[in-house]
Amino acid sequence: MSASLPFWRHRSLASLNHSEWEQICDGCGRCCLVKLEDEESGDLYYTRAACHELDLKSRRCRHYADRLDRVADCVQVSPASAAELAWLPHTCAYRLLAEHGDLPPWHPLVSGNDRALCQSGIAIGSWAFSESDLPADPDWERYLLPHDF
Ligand code: SF4
Repeated sequence: MSASLPFWRHRSLASLNHSEWEQICDGCGRCCLVKLEDEESGDLYYTRAACHELDLKSRRCRHYADRLDRVADCVQVSPASAAELAWLPHTCAYRLLAEHGDLPPWHPLVSGNDRALCQSGIAIGSWAFSESDLPADPDWERYLLPHDF
């Protein structure tokens, strides 16, 4: 029975091999956006500025293999942390799988391509820009995304 189900439906995140784990990432690019935390409330805000290593067209890291060495605050998502990292977008495929056990209809593994991902607004779009293009002392208010992003 379980053999006919797609691997993500009957396997735990911890049991996935490297290739399967990488396929779970839908390539939305949201986790690579610069985030700000309100020191008093702890609320998290996403901004339109993306990590300088993110290729904005492909929404993939330019140096994925050694990203942790190149970017000091880059964090590796793991089976253990997928449901724990508060800053992971609520749409993140790892988070959805860890919390709900399935992938959403827009996910490329479900839909067969990334059209649904883009049409759903889940993938970052032309509104995003590289943090390299930020002014020296940015007025972050200008770059905040809506709280329900
Ligand atoms: S938010 Fe999750 S699904 Fe989207 S690119 Fe980041 S790791 Fe992949």
